[in-house]
Amino acid sequence: MALGAWLLALLMTFGVTWWAESTLATPGERLLDGLVLAAPQLLLGVLLIRARPWAQGLVGLGLTLGWVFVWARHEAPARGSGETPGARPDIVLITLDTFRADHLGVVGGPVPTPALDGLAASGALFRNAVTTAPLTAPAHASMFTGRTSTEHGLRSNGQRVAAPTVIPQLQAAGWRTGAFLSSRVLDRQTGLCVGFERCEDRWGFIGRLSWLGLAEAALGQGAVERRGDEVVARALDWLSRTSGPKLAWIHLYDAHGPYLPPPMWRPDKEAMREASRQFFALGRSEGSVGDWADDLDRRHVASQRLLYGAEVRWVDELVGRVLRGIPPETIVIVAGDHGESLGEHEHYFNHGGNLMEPSMRVPMLLRWPGAVPPGSVSDALVSVQDVAGTLLAAAGVPTSLPDLLDARETVEQYASGQQGRTTHGPASGAVRRGDTKVVSDAQGAVTWYDLRADPGELSPLPLPPGWEGDAVAARALAERPAPELDERVRRQLRALGYEGE
Ligand SMILES: [Zn+2]
Repeated sequence: MALGAWLLALLMTFGVTWWAESTLATPGERLLDGLVLAAPQLLLGVLLIRARPWAQGLVGLGLTLGWVFVWARHEAPARGSGETPGARPDIVLITLDTFRADHLGVVGGPVPTPALDGLAASGALFRNAVTTAPLTAPAHASMFTGRTSTEHGLRSNGQRVAAPTVIPQLQAAGWRTGAFLSSRVLDRQTGLCVGFERCEDRWGFIGRLSWLGLAEAALGQGAVERRGDEVVARALDWLSRTSGPKLAWIHLYDAHGPYLPPPMWRPDKEAMREASRQFFALGRSEGSVGDWADDLDRRHVASQRLLYGAEVRWVDELVGRVLRGIPPETIVIVAGDHGESLGEHEHYFNHGGNLMEPSMRVPMLLRWPGAVPPGSVSDALVSVQDVAGTLLAAAGVPTSLPDLLDARETVEQYASGQQGRTTHGPASGAVRRGDTKVVSDAQGAVTWYDLRADPGELSPLPLPPGWEGDAVAARALAERPAPELDERVRRQLRALGYEGE
């Protein structure tokens, strides 16, 4: 009886671990984690045999009930629905975090990006692509729902998407789905893992055990980000081992600050420490240019820009590894989630708080053999929202969502102003229409930009006649109240370098 209760507890340990990590890790890793969790129980059991058997049975039953409790409160993303055979294309979506559109070599960027340029040559380059929000989670939610951040409800990092994503539709159509992420800001709590049968949103031993809850309290949440080479290697491994049509989402966070490029381009250790210190010091002084100019030389700004460029080169190398590792008939979408301010308008090395073009323009590329002629270049306005329709179109799923090849008249943009690394300003809203932009701040003050004549947004103009409709829309966006976050989510964001109050 006592032994039975004990064996049941051990079985539960393996069973719950296997189940809780089913969408997260490889079978080998799941087995290893089960063994690690079972080891202390085995030890305790051996010790208790020396005591009274009834104590052994009681503890065994207690452990079993504990596992039932853990199992009941754990949130797992929806599982896959299995494969459907057939010659349908694999789809790879690579999202480039914090990658400025003007840093692509093919548009004259400051560093070489041969892999991305090659991808542009084999498909389409969208030169007028923008995001809906200059923050990671809201922008990615737009990619997977086809909606703006106001519509899908995930308006600030740390929130959950309130609209359905398109991934379950691809699953239902027979696609195997895997998400390979590199920042906890896209953790399953955002709701973006739904429909991915493998969603690597937590990693390393501690990260994998975060489903236990206890592990997070005792050991912290593990690594909050991981390097792109590991992400790419795991994604390629999954792609090569999975049969049937597949969708892989590969998220590369490397260009996000602080800019610490890998050894190939890295200066010595002391220089990197100094670069990291400067990054935060410069960011914190935003809005008070006189202050930072006093204690930090402008050369530091130049060095940060060089380090950012090195990160861009590294991300390009990672994209190259993906392209070399997949068959040429694979449909490839590359989309940025937002850009980065490198000093324009006195915003230093961040994003999230303003709707200026350095943060809002994104790289967007599509290789679709047979559907998109190689070397296509489009200047039509496209949005990160159009990724959702493109994924469905690539899988042959009927949809009313526009894709990247459809013309788009406007894009609504929103900045919560709450969680830039340094910015804590009020919300703002904008409407992009062709090459113009109407921006409203939280006080309802409206400015108008002609981006063709004034690409640097140096001359905000009063609203010309005929633009009242866009002004009303921009104002409505800006007036939405800033979202509230609970303390646990704030802690996670702080660990990622966000200092939102
Ligand atoms: Zn991002």
